Amino acid sequence: AEVLLEVEGLKKYFPIQSGLLRRTVGHVKAVDDVSFRLNYGETLGIVGESGCGKSTTGRMLMRVMEPTAGRIVFDGQDLTKLRGKQLKAVRRNFQMVFQDPYASLNPRMSIQDIISEPLVVNGIATAKQSESMVVQLLETVGLRARDRFRYPHEFSGGQRQRIGIARALSLHPKLIVADEAVSALDVSIQAQILNLMVSLKSEFNLSYIFISHNLAVVKHISDRIAVMYLGHIVELATKDEFYNNPLHPYSEALLSSVLTPSRKVKRERIILTGDVPNPANPPTGCPFHTRCPKVMQECRVTRPVLRDIRAGHSVACHLHA
Ligand code: SF4
Ligand code: MG
Repeated sequence: AEVLLEVEGLKKYFPIQSGLLRRTVGHVKAVDDVSFRLNYGETLGIVGESGCGKSTTGRMLMRVMEPTAGRIVFDGQDLTKLRGKQLKAVRRNFQMVFQDPYASLNPRMSIQDIISEPLVVNGIATAKQSESMVVQLLETVGLRARDRFRYPHEFSGGQRQRIGIARALSLHPKLIVADEAVSALDVSIQAQILNLMVSLKSEFNLSYIFISHNLAVVKHISDRIAVMYLGHIVELATKDEFYNNPLHPYSEALLSSVLTPSRKVKRERIILTGDVPNPANPPTGCPFHTRCPKVMQECRVTRPVLRDIRAGHSVACHLHA
């Protein structure tokens, strides 16, 4: 399989400033040394609790946030080195679908203008020329041609997310990063949007990075799963491996709290005690050691690195070194 996206040593540290002189007294390590690959046509689900760094990772991939360190190679080009026109040209190839379709669509713009805006901004078509493309896109996402004359407030949440998807598709991107794209919707609507995204993937030759706190949602759509905790990827595996044979104690705990009727193995519910530590003051050693039911002495001292356990399954845990 060919690699579409390669992320290497990605970091985002936010300075913590204090006092009148705004002296930097420390850093919040929101994303700390994240590496992974995404192949053409693949969907990678990134899961974790809020504050684990998954959205920050997504924003850096979209180049709407500057990384503190690391490389993002997209389709053979190092995005972290591109500026201005070059960056703009590459940026067309990746688009984002956001959590809140209410907030991300301009309420004063008609659906026609919302969907055609990327085409107009990129000089691909005038508003007039883009009309037939907009009609086509609306039909592709399950809306009607005449919906283009209406405004966002006239649509339901699910319909607005369809509009957001149509807009993201207008430039025929290669990669879509969806950040909690169905989390604000009712469960029945979630399934419809996920099914739409699955069918669009083959129709438009898309690859997805699907960010969610919801393990049932990412299971539906992903080929591989990355689990993040306190800025690190702690487990990365193919979907079947992950859901049938999770290796990291954090993944086991997360999975034990989701009920999936299809699961063959019965798992005991693991209750995690303690809160997620403050990322400004992360634990030494393994980031999960303050909550891990299997913590050992070594875990308090040495941070386990993500390593391959078998083909298609990596984990960062001293139990699996
Ligand atoms: Fe738990 Fe230790 Fe593994 Fe961390 S390295 S997840 S503390 S067993
Ligand atoms: Mg988030």
